[in-house]
Amino acid sequence: KTWHQTGLASKILEMIKKLNYEKPMPIQAQALPIVMSGRDCIGIAKTGSGKTLAFVLPMLRHIKDQPPVVPGDGPIGLIMAPTRELVQQIHSDIKKFSKVLGLRCVPVYGGSGVAQQISELKRGTEIVVCTPGRMIDILCTSAGKITNLRRVTYLVMDEADRMFDMGFEPQITRIVQNIRPDRQTVLFSATFPRQVEILARKVLNKPVEIQV
Ligand code: AMP
Repeated sequence: KTWHQTGLASKILEMIKKLNYEKPMPIQAQALPIVMSGRDCIGIAKTGSGKTLAFVLPMLRHIKDQPPVVPGDGPIGLIMAPTRELVQQIHSDIKKFSKVLGLRCVPVYGGSGVAQQISELKRGTEIVVCTPGRMIDILCTSAGKITNLRRVTYLVMDEADRMFDMGFEPQITRIVQNIRPDRQTVLFSATFPRQVEILARKVLNKPVEIQV
């Protein structure tokens, strides 16, 4: 499998070349065609497998096909992850590609830098990467004045098993209930315990399961 067989935009392929990613990693080779076809997907994969690009690259293409985001709009792509560190990592991976496409990405987590996150959200952004707890706070306490979920059509839950371990299930469920049901949803997890399976069954629509 080569990158050229993936059907990604030439700007993306150029960046992949610059980063010296010679060929898609196994999780990417499996996930890209499925996710780019619009199907929901469950990926069982650990950190280091290349899972991030498996959900980021299809998301960027999904967003490029949508009408532009204007001030007052919420994001089109929403990614939930368990920790601030993982949110920052995903954000930095996205930035490498989103910049050349002219797309914005805002990380949302507690602690320092919250004021800047809020002002960027208000201006409008195509992508939000967040911890579920912090996202709920922003959505609820501002009554939708900072951002909203009305335009979300591409949803990712990364490290779903860890989000459960950290007790984020109520927040995840609450966020998902406020996203339109005709979205595309992708779930990644290192393990697939029963509680994650139950969530996946509720939140994903006829998902294709892949494992590396
Ligand atoms: P992840 O599992 O998504 O955290 O990715 C693990 C590491 O692999 C990250 O540092 C990526 O930058 C890198 N990476 C992602 N895709 C590729 C690829 N196709 N070839 C080589 N390295 C990659």
